[in-house]
Amino acid sequence: MLIVQKYGGTSVANLECIEKVAKRVAKTKEDGNSVVVVVSAMSGETNKLIEYAKHFSSSPKQREMDLLLSSGERVTSALLAIALTQMGHNAVAFSGRQAGIYTDEVHTKAHIARIDATRLEKELKDGNIVVVAGFQGITNFGDVSTLGRGGSDLSAVAIAGALKADICEIYTDVDGVYTTDPRVEPKARKLEMISYDEMLELASLGAKILQNRSVELAKKLNINLVTRNSFNENPGTLITKEENIMEKPLVSGIAIDKNQARVTLRGVTDKPGIAAEIFTTLAKENVNVDMIIQNVGHDGTTNLGFTVPENELDIAKIAIGKIEPANVVEYDSDIVKVSIVGVGMKSHSGVASRAFQTMAKEGINIEMISTSEIKISLVINAKYGELAVRALHKAYELDR
Ligand code: ADP
Ligand code: ASP
Ligand code: MG
Repeated sequence: MLIVQKYGGTSVANLECIEKVAKRVAKTKEDGNSVVVVVSAMSGETNKLIEYAKHFSSSPKQREMDLLLSSGERVTSALLAIALTQMGHNAVAFSGRQAGIYTDEVHTKAHIARIDATRLEKELKDGNIVVVAGFQGITNFGDVSTLGRGGSDLSAVAIAGALKADICEIYTDVDGVYTTDPRVEPKARKLEMISYDEMLELASLGAKILQNRSVELAKKLNINLVTRNSFNENPGTLITKEENIMEKPLVSGIAIDKNQARVTLRGVTDKPGIAAEIFTTLAKENVNVDMIIQNVGHDGTTNLGFTVPENELDIAKIAIGKIEPANVVEYDSDIVKVSIVGVGMKSHSGVASRAFQTMAKEGINIEMISTSEIKISLVINAKYGELAVRALHKAYELDR
């Protein structure tokens, strides 16, 4: 079998951990498999590098950020290959560029445009273990790019697709995908399987076990994606097509996204083209806008509210400052988005009202609501975020 294994930050957190990963990789190879390993930076490393940059500038150039951030994964990939070689295996490490991962020019959240896998294929054919630095690629200009936070997952899935791997295993510090973040609700249950669509929603709505774009690509390429714990041998969670899942629960999971901020524009001129101007300006800066709410106009003006990722708020502020679209602009980082996800919602009513009742019972005010076919999202005050997750987890009987 050709296996792609991705090890996250906590799995390569220090030299001892890297040694353990090397043993696990060596065992996989000794069992007769071809192995490609994708690694993250040591846990905390990417955040540390961001803080270093912030010491000098609150809005550093994204191009330089990418060169800086990509360094963390280079360290762990080289160290893992060195450790494997010392164990008597032939291992070769590659940066994203060396691995042939080409991206667009959207620095700090680039999309993979194509993979030239010639070199990786050759190394595998020669019987070598291939180790690739995750989270990074190269633009057509030859600049280093990174794939967004958690982007090593995307590297792994994309490489698995390019090499037509039999399976892509994502190793992390929990046993798999749970009904909610087990750090927030210890009663959360591990799921044996989950559909690509539900996983995509959970990941997009804050469940950082998998990066959302990696799930999107896995679905598109129909990749056998499994999340597992690098610290034990438990079987993990398979992410697969909906039709492969026999028992479809009403609700599969609850997600919480703390990286959210709200922008409120008061006294926006109520005329055609104003929304286009605001959101085109934000789109140009690659700010991800979500949950847009516009009130019914009054006296020729209206109010407009929307959410953006908290770490994009500074960029959003600068962009909005340039066009001055409203009399008053308010920013609020003290919010979280809590979401309920399940394919069962498609065919059942009353799922949303149960969420509203649960919030009412806890005395939590809902500030914004959005729904889609398989999800309900609520924006609430940050201080009630984890309480809301636990209450909803119980209300939908996910602990049973
Ligand atoms: P890695 O560094 O290995 O990429 P991450 O920290 O990115 O790991 O993702 C793993 C973490 O995701 C877990 O430690 C857990 O706290 C969190 N998490 C959030 N939601 C879920 C969920 N539904 N199931 C499992 N883990 C979750
Ligand atoms: N090191 C990067 C991050 O912390 C990428 C990853 O771990 O997947 O976001
Ligand atoms: Mg991750």
